[in-house]
Amino acid sequence: MSLLKNLGRQLRAGELSATELTQAYLSRIERHDPQVRAYLHVTAEQALRQAGRVDAQLAQGEPLHPLAGIPMGIKDNLCTQGIPTTCASKVLAGFCPPYESTVTAQLSACGAVMVGKTNLDEFAMGSSTENSAYQVTANPWDLKCVPGGSSGGSGAAVAAGLCAAALGSDTGGSIRLPAAFCGVVGLKPTYGRVSRYGLVAYASSLDQIGPLTPTVMDAALVLEAIAGHDPKDSTSLATDVPRYSETLESLSETQPLAGRRVGLVQETLGEGLDPEVNTLFQQAVAHLASLGAEITIISCPRFAYGLPAYYILAPSEASANLARYDGVRYGLRAPEATLLAMYQATRAQGFGPEVKRRIMLGTYTLSAGYYDAYYLKAQKVRTLIKEDFEAAFTQVDVLVSPTAPTPAFKAGEKTADPLSMYLTDLMTIPVNLAGLPALSLPCGFTADGLPVGLQIIGRPLAEADILQVAYAYEQTTPWHHRQPPDLS
Ligand code: GLN
Repeated sequence: MSLLKNLGRQLRAGELSATELTQAYLSRIERHDPQVRAYLHVTAEQALRQAGRVDAQLAQGEPLHPLAGIPMGIKDNLCTQGIPTTCASKVLAGFCPPYESTVTAQLSACGAVMVGKTNLDEFAMGSSTENSAYQVTANPWDLKCVPGGSSGGSGAAVAAGLCAAALGSDTGGSIRLPAAFCGVVGLKPTYGRVSRYGLVAYASSLDQIGPLTPTVMDAALVLEAIAGHDPKDSTSLATDVPRYSETLESLSETQPLAGRRVGLVQETLGEGLDPEVNTLFQQAVAHLASLGAEITIISCPRFAYGLPAYYILAPSEASANLARYDGVRYGLRAPEATLLAMYQATRAQGFGPEVKRRIMLGTYTLSAGYYDAYYLKAQKVRTLIKEDFEAAFTQVDVLVSPTAPTPAFKAGEKTADPLSMYLTDLMTIPVNLAGLPALSLPCGFTADGLPVGLQIIGRPLAEADILQVAYAYEQTTPWHHRQPPDLS
């Protein structure tokens, strides 16, 4: 059952007002967020104002958008006018953007209610949300574990019922990984499907905004609302937005995947894969076959080079994008006597260690003399990875893999070893390099009760395909009915 549809039905039937619904979520946040720490800012006042507008619409008998009155969490790297937007960085402490991101403007126009800004790894750099300069978010399934990153606040908030749906951003896996670790659905759209206007840039050629939601139908509903061309983002595509939710409703009940060709990415099933994750993944594939899918094993031989190429390209772009935090225009300014000293002190105090590491790596790989050896070569590898996917998609309609090699790990377990942290994104990164859409949904739980994610990758702009496969799987498996233990 779609949570959003269910809530929408109750609002329309007059069983619940938007104000009551918002208040219910705000009080859950008050009760549980001290444990989960998913929110950096709770925007109660504005939320109740937005909900009041929806109630006025209801009273007038006006038709409601499916997202009207729906309480949502917004990752704190999306600009919200007049509301703090920190990217979980000290360098943006106190920054309130003078403008609104396109996606949040679209959600507001639909009547969605923003309940708060969610925690993330500083500037979305990380896989566990431990790189936030403000707080560490807990995984609602085991409070000692990380929620994944970098959209960990959004993933944890959805899993813990601290919002009905959320937005995240995904540069190398930051929507899909927290979705997998928190047992929710996360969708990274095709590069260009959703406007990035007002998303604080990390690596602009890879960044994409997408939903984290309790169910696949909910993800379809949110994507429908935020996708489409935006003149303010020159990389956004002028392609019609399909009615994703309707394409799910039209799937046949028996053998919904008859004739679909599903490829298993061989390279994701090797060394380093947790045995429980592997077992649950294999069971998920067998389940897809039982729904009519034809399963093939596909090799993407250059997949393994995705991670090293990404850790050249993403820091290179980040080093350029983060040059703007100079103490002059935004947030923090360290008081110093000279301009140069002010720049230096602001950046030294404002950025955390991981962000500094990325800026240094990127500055190095872009520097004269090293540019060809690193940046240019990584761009060539990026093309090869894209070609591997193109070849795969001549044989199959969608590709599947585990979303991550392991379930959620304990907080502190990987912070001392950046490389082991980077390896968490092994299976999600190649998708960003190729600009493809991909989704993660729950495919079971480990013996310790931690959720595991199944990744479904599609052709460019084939969000409808991956949503359909995910929906058919979800409707015939019980995983999305489970609630985290301590918070019910
Ligand atoms: N973990 C990856 C990184 O640190 C991906 C982050 C993301 O998708 N924003 O860069």
